[in-house]
Amino acid sequence: MAITEGRLIMNGLRSAVSKGKRGRMGTVETSASTRKRSKQAVKEEDTTPPVPQSSFHTFSDPADVVQLRSQLLSWYDKEKRELPWRTLALAESDINIRTYAVWVSEIMLQQTQVATVKEYYKRWLKKWPTVQDLAAATIEEVNQMWSGLGYYSRGRRLHEGAQKVVLELKGRMPRTVDDLLKQLPGVGRYTAAAVGSIALGQVTGAVDGNVIRVLCRVRAIGADSTRPTVTEALWNLSNLLVDPERPGDFNQALMELGAQVCTPKGPLCIKCPVQSHCRSYHKEQNTAKLLDRKGSNLPDIEDCINSGACPLCPSEPWNNDLGVQNFPRKPAKKAPRVERTLTCVVTRTREEANEEFLLLQRPNKGLLAGLWEFPSLLLQEENSVEEQKKLLCNEISTTLRTCLSETLIRYVGEVVHIFSHIHQTYVVYSLCLKEQDTQTHTGKTQWLDRSALQEAAVSTGLKKVCFIRCLNVCEFLIMFSRPSFMFTILQILKLFDSADGLEDKNSKVSFYLVFQLD
Ligand code: SF4
Ligand code: ZN
Repeated sequence: MAITEGRLIMNGLRSAVSKGKRGRMGTVETSASTRKRSKQAVKEEDTTPPVPQSSFHTFSDPADVVQLRSQLLSWYDKEKRELPWRTLALAESDINIRTYAVWVSEIMLQQTQVATVKEYYKRWLKKWPTVQDLAAATIEEVNQMWSGLGYYSRGRRLHEGAQKVVLELKGRMPRTVDDLLKQLPGVGRYTAAAVGSIALGQVTGAVDGNVIRVLCRVRAIGADSTRPTVTEALWNLSNLLVDPERPGDFNQALMELGAQVCTPKGPLCIKCPVQSHCRSYHKEQNTAKLLDRKGSNLPDIEDCINSGACPLCPSEPWNNDLGVQNFPRKPAKKAPRVERTLTCVVTRTREEANEEFLLLQRPNKGLLAGLWEFPSLLLQEENSVEEQKKLLCNEISTTLRTCLSETLIRYVGEVVHIFSHIHQTYVVYSLCLKEQDTQTHTGKTQWLDRSALQEAAVSTGLKKVCFIRCLNVCEFLIMFSRPSFMFTILQILKLFDSADGLEDKNSKVSFYLVFQLD
């Protein structure tokens, strides 16, 4: 019964987690995903005869550009959010520290929401205020600091980059967009442009996911936004628009507009400072008027002269129900790989000591490289619970060089964790050991008590595994007449289920429960 309850809760968690949001990045990935496109697609594009680009998708009147810059920057000056990296970029006079601080923020913001990044960013800058401080840290400390932020290779690259700056560049951060791109690992076209414009005042546009959306809507660019022709058109457009006096602010303003007003769903066109320049807004308004005056044969608004052969026009007709959300268009996402992994929360309780958890370090390369996890095994085929216990028992016996009985292993439940390209289900077991069975023999294995586990470099997936084990502790409480406590937990979970940023909140709840309950 209790496992069923656990499953019900996890189903809620699962569906909500699958709604997890992507951050504002997408730009380094824009070029990466571009590179990943099939050779066939590239070939087709390369052999297509060039079509002169219609001025419909750009700005041909310099006065319009000047006006748009001024409207956008005035709006930004009034409406921008106070964010720690913005404050620091404005206040810091040391160019090395400023460039380092903006670089850290841009890497953290790749794939992660602003709200989540804020606290991590403050902690990071407090611990490593300069590139020299970061270079002197160990990778273990970096992983620990990054724990819970996801896409762990980003933290490793920052660390690698800091060491490179100190060892090869005499501690001097690169001073141009080109050098940022060439000299720092993990820095792509977007990040170099963003750091270059914000920290170094370089006059360059910067195209991230938010900017793609805004520009596609403003200039009615409806072709697949991951195609190289479209990517180049967007970079050209952003380079044309960027304000030469305030390039960093202009780029941030465009991103801010995408994050606050020109949002993926339900854009607030009514509040938009660049509405007068927005072709999709005008199209939406005109279409609505045309529909109101059926049969009156009103001419359509200005349109692309190359429509039909234009590489930037949408291939599908305008959908009235979508309005401005007809733009941008993206190709259908590839379905993630489905995996199931057996994992076992192995604990030991020594006299006069708290419960300790067995953790193994993952390999230094690949997914979640170098992070710590519970003993785990990727399932190659469907097995019965008994077979799964046997597999785990062999694995843990080998790790601890002992001979354990699978009867000690208990089934706990399942946890789903979505990576960008993997739909991972952890099939969770638990095992409580006596001390004589618990000697570890390599530096890749360790026992951590609860407070050390909270600080360790572990993934969000592991935190969820902790969480479901905790629900099992709740079963125990129900059995011992503490249903009201269980009810409270369910209420908390329900609350989090409907909230934004659920992943982190659930992780926190999970830790709270794991560490408060038994
Ligand atoms: Fe986006 Fe609407 Fe502004 Fe156009 S008018 S840029 S669609 S918010
Ligand atoms: Zn066109």
